[in-house]
Amino acid sequence: MGMAWVSTLAVAVLLSGIGDPYFPADGNAGYDVSHYRLDLRYQPGADRLAGTAVIRASATRDLRRVSFDFRLDASEARVNGVQAGLVRRGGKLVVTPEAALPAGRPFSVEVRYSGVPSRVVIDGERPWKATPDGAYSTAEPHIASAWFPCNDHPRDKATYDVSVTVPDGTQVISTGVLKGTDRHSGSTTWHWHGSRPQASYLQTLAIGHYAIKRGTAPDGRPIVTAYDRRLSKSMRKAAQDSLERTPEVLAWEESLFGPYPFEAEGGIVVAGDDSEDAEEFQTRPVYRSGAADLTTVVHENAHQWFGDSVSVRSWRDIWLNEGFATYAEWMWSEHLGKATARQQAAEAYARTDWRILPGDPGREHLFDDPVYNRGAMTLQALRDTVGDRDFFAIVRAWATRHRYGNGSTPEFVALAEKISGKRLDTLFRTWLFTKGRPHGRMSTFASSRQP
Ligand SMILES: [Zn+2]
Repeated sequence: MGMAWVSTLAVAVLLSGIGDPYFPADGNAGYDVSHYRLDLRYQPGADRLAGTAVIRASATRDLRRVSFDFRLDASEARVNGVQAGLVRRGGKLVVTPEAALPAGRPFSVEVRYSGVPSRVVIDGERPWKATPDGAYSTAEPHIASAWFPCNDHPRDKATYDVSVTVPDGTQVISTGVLKGTDRHSGSTTWHWHGSRPQASYLQTLAIGHYAIKRGTAPDGRPIVTAYDRRLSKSMRKAAQDSLERTPEVLAWEESLFGPYPFEAEGGIVVAGDDSEDAEEFQTRPVYRSGAADLTTVVHENAHQWFGDSVSVRSWRDIWLNEGFATYAEWMWSEHLGKATARQQAAEAYARTDWRILPGDPGREHLFDDPVYNRGAMTLQALRDTVGDRDFFAIVRAWATRHRYGNGSTPEFVALAEKISGKRLDTLFRTWLFTKGRPHGRMSTFASSRQP
């Protein structure tokens, strides 16, 4: 941790990250991206990605340089159509326009680039996975800079046009709506469009041989689910039995959380990895074959409200994503007539590690069990304290007021106090920021385990 701070301090003076306490080098200050247009060509097998990114942004202060998070090779950059200087330094691409960009004015940066994204390592992980017939990307919170230049932090959201050209017979799935495909001689270009503000880590690509199912939800939203053709017959069937229930799951979640925030829905199942990992890409979660079950569908789709539409202001706020998504799993169990949310909270209470604080887990423990389970228990404790009516009013107000934006723990506490009219600082301090097991009236649900 100390090392990270020292080395990023040096970078920060020069380039200044966006200001995340866990990942101070992430993101870039001084501008706000409104749109990314990616025109890419991908060669399966060789894992070679090449093309251009056009980033439309506006300067929030006078800018002599514009930096992006990026880890492939850039060969050319243009700012507002004029050739600009470029240099790669660490995980950053620094573009120097001919003249400074004035505060408050829009600008566009075009970057021509290429590389082998599976070679990129970020914090010890390879976010881009090459497969025998393609690739997919997943690894929260650092993925995007392995395949396009971006302002890689949830505080800067943008809309997307992603076009990828691949050999005929290969499919490309991304987030949002499929606008169409163009066939050329021997290759096909897939055009995807995301029209709602989206964090860079929630953008994804899956390339390979996929069986794509397209449908329409009752309210007219396009549904796109995609199944890796390398899945065994039984795995494919199990995955379909869960993912094809996404519309039903979303309708149930809407009844609790308010209107679904996005323009499309669905999911992608990738083969070749039986781990239980899944990730909540906006409108289109990716499930490894071992994770394509109904409970995970409930979890990843709850993230569409909590994580994707309302994103963390800093990564330290991660329990606001994982606690809600886990609590949704508990409520789903209750909805099915199985263990109630309260009983599941009691089960979790009996087996949780009480040393990691969900309100400040540290960057090494961002996705550890207590962030999920103690985060969800915090919500059960809140529900027990304020009652069902206020609890669901708080949840819906959180989703509405911060829609397409960001939220932090203090903002959530303030909203809960405002709606309930109760002082809740002790409750949240105990549950989120105090080591050890909360007792007594702080955990009245603890005795409600199933017989
Ligand atoms: Zn999650």
